[in-house]
Amino acid sequence: MIIILKPNADAQKRADLCEHLVTLGLDVDVSEGQTSTVLGLVGDTSRVDMGSLRILDIVEDVKRVSEPYKKANRKFHPCDSVIAIGEHTVGGDEFALIAGPCSVESREQMLSIAADVARAGATALRGGAYKPRTSPYAFQGMREEGIEILLEARAETGLPIVTELMDVRDLPAFSEVDVVQIGARNMQNFALLKEVGALGKPVLLKRGLSATIEELLMSAEYIMAAGNEKIILCERGIRTFETATRNTLDLSAIPVLKELTHLPIVVDPSHATGVARYVRSLSLAALAAGADGLIVEVHNDPPNAQCDGAQSITPEAFAELSEAVNAMLPIVRGTTTAR
Ligand code: PEP
Ligand code: MN
Repeated sequence: MIIILKPNADAQKRADLCEHLVTLGLDVDVSEGQTSTVLGLVGDTSRVDMGSLRILDIVEDVKRVSEPYKKANRKFHPCDSVIAIGEHTVGGDEFALIAGPCSVESREQMLSIAADVARAGATALRGGAYKPRTSPYAFQGMREEGIEILLEARAETGLPIVTELMDVRDLPAFSEVDVVQIGARNMQNFALLKEVGALGKPVLLKRGLSATIEELLMSAEYIMAAGNEKIILCERGIRTFETATRNTLDLSAIPVLKELTHLPIVVDPSHATGVARYVRSLSLAALAAGADGLIVEVHNDPPNAQCDGAQSITPEAFAELSEAVNAMLPIVRGTTTAR
């Protein structure tokens, strides 16, 4: 349920109302907009008498929220959420460019790619230290050592780091990480979602391989219900009957999510297509469809990458993509703000 307050509602009356709602056992989420304030109620609202709320002089309207996701719902929070990552933000005027290899393979590889993408205008650095691999015999990541290398790359470039957490037992290694990625395979690992909900760091939540948009939002709700509202959603392609690409990039998810939620959404064209030469066009399509940023795999030696070489673009191609993004942004957004 949401209660829309009248503009300039009396502060004392508002505080009294919130207190009353809390005594009914409800959690009250306050969203201050430019013109009005929305009180989002989470909990058993079946005993709330909508009529008696509507007659209060500070109340504009009262509505039931039928969707199962509440805190992630745009009705609860009409303005876009803007999430700070290092010196940058995701979800506001800036367009996020998160770039780096699929996995951290060595110090030299990571530092070299980090320097290249930083120079080309990346706003954050990606790199997997703990890798979810389909085969148990494939490279599983450099683990703690990989995180150490990422921290060194951050120290050298100033770029915040985004890296995947697969198991709560690995959490101690993530204390310095800027953004915790929850990968597609773990989107419905509810124990992990609750744990990152208690973390207080931004979470990049990837859509599951076969997850609906509502399921993605319910996973975000898990993290939010546990206390962490700093979530960046990621559309990374879903499994369809098509085999020409690794997955099918669901571009429609971008405007749909923009309507349903206030959380920012970035697009991963690398895992969506599995093919480096398709990354540029789908990146620009994602920007045109209203995405808040991209997360792109970049490797300095794609043919010899330990993981996902076929979908990794070179640092040169990333620099060209970054230029194209900056040329296109003012056209799409009608603003001159680049990043
Ligand atoms: C990744 O980002 O390297 C990754 C494994 O992504 P996803 O979970 O989307 O497959
Ligand atoms: Mn990958």
